[in-house]
Amino acid sequence: MMALELEVAGEMLMLLPQKAMYWPSNSTLIIADIHFGKAATFRRLGVPVPHGTTAQNLELLDELMMLYPTQHIIFLGDFLHAPDISAATLQSLLNWRTSHPALEMTLVRGNHDVRAGDPPQELGIHIVNEPFRSGPFAFCHYPDVESDGYVLAGHVHPSFRLSGRHETLRLPCFLIGTGRAILPSFGAFTGSYTIKPDADEQVFIVAGDSVIKAV
Ligand code: MN
Repeated sequence: MMALELEVAGEMLMLLPQKAMYWPSNSTLIIADIHFGKAATFRRLGVPVPHGTTAQNLELLDELMMLYPTQHIIFLGDFLHAPDISAATLQSLLNWRTSHPALEMTLVRGNHDVRAGDPPQELGIHIVNEPFRSGPFAFCHYPDVESDGYVLAGHVHPSFRLSGRHETLRLPCFLIGTGRAILPSFGAFTGSYTIKPDADEQVFIVAGDSVIKAV
């Protein structure tokens, strides 16, 4: 796995191929749009989607925390997908939380959180409204929040279309602008939206094990 280091607002950030960011000077992982419970919600509606996405998300968080020393995870909104989170999903989250008692977690409320309600208190998550300021950054769900900090946001689930002669491929991406950055959605099975970068924006695609500058 090849992370890409980038200086943003005077701080070094790492863009991770696991579709997350790491802020080394604060031992902080930044995770957008994990959407716990989304697959279960679809299954209840009769849509045949894969099982195991919650476990997959939690395993990937564990993997990241082993690779990158983590004191704090900041979730940029859409932690829970919907109000009707299943008992099984909730139990998985509680078990995972128990295995990381010292970990600090902050959730910046996103639109799905507003609908789903805040995650249960037992998860020990500090829950805030955007913008959540720390260092030079303003941690948000929506990309268009006004702030004197550099905005790190989610919500969009950005992907970028690469075109060959006869085929195209859509890959999740980070969008890095002069005043804000948008992270790809971390969650397994969350879908994505094809973006067109503005002139001042750089696109870094997640291509398998690497993060690569596309534009
Ligand atoms: Mn979302």
